[in-house]
Amino acid sequence: MHNVVILGSGPAGLTAALYTARANLSPVLIDGAQPGGQLTITTDVENYPGFPNGIMGPQLIMDMRAQAERFGTIFRQGHVTKVDLKQSPFSITIDDEETIQAKTLIISTGASANLLGLPSESRLMGHGVSTCATCDGFFFREKEIVVIGGGDSAMEEATFLTKFASKVTIIHRRDSLRASKIMQERAVKNEKISFRWNAGIDEMLGDDLVTGIRVRDVNTNQTDDIPCEGIFVAIGHTPNTSLFTGILDMDDAGYLITKPHSSATNTPGVFAAGDVQDSHYRQAITAAGSGCMAALDAERFLENQE
Ligand code: NAP
Repeated sequence: MHNVVILGSGPAGLTAALYTARANLSPVLIDGAQPGGQLTITTDVENYPGFPNGIMGPQLIMDMRAQAERFGTIFRQGHVTKVDLKQSPFSITIDDEETIQAKTLIISTGASANLLGLPSESRLMGHGVSTCATCDGFFFREKEIVVIGGGDSAMEEATFLTKFASKVTIIHRRDSLRASKIMQERAVKNEKISFRWNAGIDEMLGDDLVTGIRVRDVNTNQTDDIPCEGIFVAIGHTPNTSLFTGILDMDDAGYLITKPHSSATNTPGVFAAGDVQDSHYRQAITAAGSGCMAALDAERFLENQE
């Protein structure tokens, strides 16, 4: 039986692993569906303290992982398919094959990219439609692309994509952006970026590959087609909590609810950290901070059990 099992390998999970490993708790960390989490599909991280010149997201994750490993974290590849939290020790089933037992559980399963839900979007996903500029930007050299969304992700993706694309159009459903000022300014100043305001998406066009996008003006209801070869969807994220539906308390959007000033969920011994419980800040540094909180909470919980 393990003292601590951690689900998810983003900054929250890796920080929880570092702290619990240094507390001699021999944590087991299960990688999950996207090892390293969202930082592995981002480029320059300029706002993680300690890196005055910025650091690439994948490098930051590799360094965090090495640091957690140095103190004895046991890394397991796999996807958790079932949890039983009704009694302690908790049971955690990996890939429907193996069940391990844990005295405490730290959930840091993060959040995943939202999609518009159009049939043409799923049909053309990977054929010109993407949710990850870092992964797929390279394929759009000297091509015209669009980015959907008005938040920091959309600004970041659009700015990054100008390294490859000949032209980037940001399509937003309102007439003002949600993104932070600095990210907005960067996108607005970029000569390759233009904006299409008040536009909803009717359809993504193309048979085998994207050839354009049909937008609808929300004021006039008029539609028109914008030719493009790439479509990047950047409209926010949904927490990865389906495993805990009906088991742990969640808010309406599916984020796990933790007690004030604590990482504790409504089940004693189960803690949550990172984007899976944070719909507000959602930064690498806040995720890491909450991973530290969860580790300290798990450590204290175990001490009180003895
Ligand atoms: P977000 O802030 O929730 O923005 C999502 C955007 O997508 C909004 O503009 C929203 O429009 C639009 N949208 C949502 N659903 C839509 C739909 N069905 N159709 C069309 N548009 C839709 O998400 P995010 O940009 O992913 O950012 C999430 C968090 O990560 C934020 O806290 C952000 O600051 C942070 N972040 C930071 C950085 C950085 O600092 N480097 C980079 C990326 C993300 P409305 O505005 O109309 O709601």
